[in-house]
Amino acid sequence: MADDVMIPAREKVFTGLGVSSGIGIGTAHVRESGVIQVPEYRIPAKRLNAEKERFQEAVERARKQVAGLRAKLEGGPGRFEEDLGPLLDAYHQMLTDSRLVRGALARIATERINAEAAVQEEVAAIAESFKAMDDAYLAGRLDDIRGVANRLVRSLMNKPYQTYSTLPRDSVVVAEELTPADTARLNPHLVSGITTVLGGTQGHTAIMARALEIPTVLGVPGVLDGIRHGDTVIVDGDSGRVIVNPGDATLRAYEARRVEMARERRVLSRMRRVPAVTRDGTEVTLMANVELPIEVNLVHQMGAAGIGLLRSEFMYMNRDDIPPEDEVYETLRDIIAVMEGKPVTVRILDVGGEKATDALMGEYAVSASSALGLRGIRLLLKRQDLLESQFRVILRAATTGNVRIMLPMVTTVGEVRKARQAMKAAAESLKERGIAVPEPLPPVGIMIEIPAAALAADGLARVSDFFSIGSNDLTMYTLAADRGDEQVAHLYNPLHPAVVRLIHRAAEAAKHAGIPVSLCGEIAGDPRYTALLLGLGILDLSMIASKLPRVKQRVRALDLPAATRRAQGILDQGDPGRIAMMLDDFNALF
Ligand code: PEP
Ligand code: MG
Repeated sequence: MADDVMIPAREKVFTGLGVSSGIGIGTAHVRESGVIQVPEYRIPAKRLNAEKERFQEAVERARKQVAGLRAKLEGGPGRFEEDLGPLLDAYHQMLTDSRLVRGALARIATERINAEAAVQEEVAAIAESFKAMDDAYLAGRLDDIRGVANRLVRSLMNKPYQTYSTLPRDSVVVAEELTPADTARLNPHLVSGITTVLGGTQGHTAIMARALEIPTVLGVPGVLDGIRHGDTVIVDGDSGRVIVNPGDATLRAYEARRVEMARERRVLSRMRRVPAVTRDGTEVTLMANVELPIEVNLVHQMGAAGIGLLRSEFMYMNRDDIPPEDEVYETLRDIIAVMEGKPVTVRILDVGGEKATDALMGEYAVSASSALGLRGIRLLLKRQDLLESQFRVILRAATTGNVRIMLPMVTTVGEVRKARQAMKAAAESLKERGIAVPEPLPPVGIMIEIPAAALAADGLARVSDFFSIGSNDLTMYTLAADRGDEQVAHLYNPLHPAVVRLIHRAAEAAKHAGIPVSLCGEIAGDPRYTALLLGLGILDLSMIASKLPRVKQRVRALDLPAATRRAQGILDQGDPGRIAMMLDDFNALF
């Protein structure tokens, strides 16, 4: 019978790293690297001149931006000028007179299309003609042309970096790579899944996807070549599978699983109303991490005891300038208000590494884009203007609620002292202007996320009001395995004995010095680790808000003395595999 015939599966399955849980089903939106995707529309004849003028104004704005960047470079160390100067000169030249500018202008007139589309078409035409010439020099120049074209398109859209605003509902974003800033722009109501070729489990792109609750699979070899625009795609963020053009049976199975997961979520949401107390009666503090302001309501709904980590970077992403102090102040004040007196731990800017922002890094961009360079507090101590500006804003906002200040990427006692001095200077300058600051000034704590800081935590505890262990970076730096690189994802393991012992050491130092210690890396939100962390003496965890109910469920199932004994046993082990087994066996008991 015809109905019994199995139709050969058209579906293709790719496998990568499931980094954000859940099942996303939707239509592929393939993002070509290089040129930003913009809408295309026709321009009526009577508006052609206005469109050409709009284009010329955008060229002028982009030229000014490049000239501004060039001028900044001149004041900095010669090395940067040597590296970046010629590139910016080439950009400037191209924005003054080039085939790109002339060609795009001509296309607006002859093809009657909008300026953004004209720029893209001209770039495609240039790429085509370069390809025919097969010349390595020209291939390199094409990158420069694309760089200028992107700048022009952003300038034209007058909404810098808004490249995803036109996505239809139920899109699955497919790309070579998404930066954390790209991910921050995705609208979770429109995007039902993400999959990329590059990216590791604990990079900031993965964290951002989890924060937005978008099912995501990163580090999938071949996925960009294997999916076409418009294909139906299932992203299984738990198993790490990406299924392209699924057959009916697969689709039905995944839809059923999605319904089941929604039901589990509803059941878990009841956890909100019960306290986070272990079986033996020990109270545990569960706070939330915040990456983007849209999460703050969820933080409140999930019954978090406060914000244990406010990653302030979001306010500085996706823009070419530094936001005015009043704008940052208002954003912070609004978040603090939602928390209704619960603690809000504001981390000062942690730019650098994969969270690169040209406007902030300025002349230090080369060093700051390295994970071992001027990241976090290191960059801010070079940019005292930025450091003091942040303290001014946070101190102003701190008068409206319960604020703690946290310093990222601390390595030495001297860095903490200098940061404190900058905070005092900021407080003085506010007072001189008659602006209120909290008395006493807010507590200043530090992230323990560099192995040296964990090893020397006793000294750092003397100058810090609290510790927050950043296990994401601590794991990366201890194991020399980049958290955002899928090629070393198998080495990136928080259960390596070196990482476990460093976490323990930092927690012990805090206890000894009598200061609070929490952990705000991603393992805080994974119930697999709850027993270990509590057993190591960390009774304060901060995580992505949606993870709170499951972790609370784990806390309530645990017996703390038993978890402590198991953690002690784990500290004696040297083999990560054995540690994982000991933890999983223990977890199976409760
Ligand atoms: C960490 O490193 O663990 C951390 C919480 O900070 P981030 O992930 O922002 O680097
Ligand atoms: Mg970190």
